[in-house]
Amino acid sequence: MKSFQIKTKINFGKGALESLEQLAGKKVLLITDPFMVKSGLVNEVIKYLQKSEYTVFCDIVPDPPMEVVTAGIKEFERFMPDVVVALGGGSAIDTSKAIVYFAKKILNLENIKLEDVKLIVIPTTSGTGSEATSFSVITDVQKGAKYPLVSDELLPDVAILDPELVKSVPPNVTADTGMDVLTHAIEAYVSTQSHDCSDALAERAIKLVCEYLPKAYADGDDIKAREKMHNASCLAGIAFDKVSLGINHSIAHAIGAKFHISHGRANSLLLVHVIDYNSQIKGYKTIEFSETAKKYAEISSFLKLNIFNEKIAVDSLKDAIIKLQKQLNMPLTLTECGIDAKEVESMKDEIAELALNDNCTKTNPVKPTKEDIIKILEKII
Ligand code: NAD
Repeated sequence: MKSFQIKTKINFGKGALESLEQLAGKKVLLITDPFMVKSGLVNEVIKYLQKSEYTVFCDIVPDPPMEVVTAGIKEFERFMPDVVVALGGGSAIDTSKAIVYFAKKILNLENIKLEDVKLIVIPTTSGTGSEATSFSVITDVQKGAKYPLVSDELLPDVAILDPELVKSVPPNVTADTGMDVLTHAIEAYVSTQSHDCSDALAERAIKLVCEYLPKAYADGDDIKAREKMHNASCLAGIAFDKVSLGINHSIAHAIGAKFHISHGRANSLLLVHVIDYNSQIKGYKTIEFSETAKKYAEISSFLKLNIFNEKIAVDSLKDAIIKLQKQLNMPLTLTECGIDAKEVESMKDEIAELALNDNCTKTNPVKPTKEDIIKILEKII
């Protein structure tokens, strides 16, 4: 038996932020990053909290470390909110999810029912889908590793997708985060756990990214493109939350933590090589195609690419991704990201080990060896 349930209520489209007015009379802990405060974007949220008691915790940093979660729990304990509102990209949302999760587990306060504290998240990037997932990715700075916490208790109660908040995202972050959406959707589509419900969400997300990411990149004020990418990010998030991901993410988690390149960019570098590996097509001699190659071919089919046979369909998908990356002026190798090839060579073994042990590897359609992962890694040096 399979089941499918979405806990998070999703308010989306222009004007979605107005739903915050329902927090009148509540104590609100607003968690965000310094950019949101400096740029004034935080005021777009604060203007709907005028009838609430609120405080702002703005210490979020990219690739959030446990230390920031700990500081946030202290702020939670000091303020004792009824509602936590997270405003920002995946980093702000993941940190807030971890703060609420651990505060409920650790804090033991008389006469206060912490289980009633609600989490509302407002993404300002269209990428991670964290607003609808049971994941929170926290970094161990000392070990140079990223660890995904996974629990249904991390799922936000409400997600607010307001495209106006994404207009200020610069083109390079639009590109990186947009490629993160595409990777989520493609990995969910070929996951060993995929099913009709997740496939429907992933398919829609892939189509939306291919049509609207170049438009959002070319013109950040294109509100329709921003809205469609915001929706795509959430749909892909729901899809991978239900069926998990694959080795694209396992390797990206490891290289993201080692070389501090953005999560979406790390995913993008690997995408065509992981498709190549997973499809297991051995040159022109292949006559029987794997189920995974057939699923990649389905993607090519709904994207209206060349699908003469499975090999050509998989090649067309890889070509379409490379064309998109070029349109978005994205690097195709770690060297192009400014990382020293020798440093990568010296860490190959460690990265492959981390990737093999990453949770996402369990649902990859092909079970990789350490050597397989090293070979994929060598293609992006
Ligand atoms: P981010 O949250 O780290 O933000 C990247 C940069 O963009 C920051 O400098 C931020 O200030 C800026 N920014 C955010 N919104 C902006 C806006 N509207 N205008 C201008 N600048 C803006 O990046 P991200 O890609 O959204 O999140 C990455 C994190 O999410 C990583 O730690 C990754 O591991 C994690 N992640 C989590 C999940 C999940 O399900 N929980 C899934 C994928 C990735």
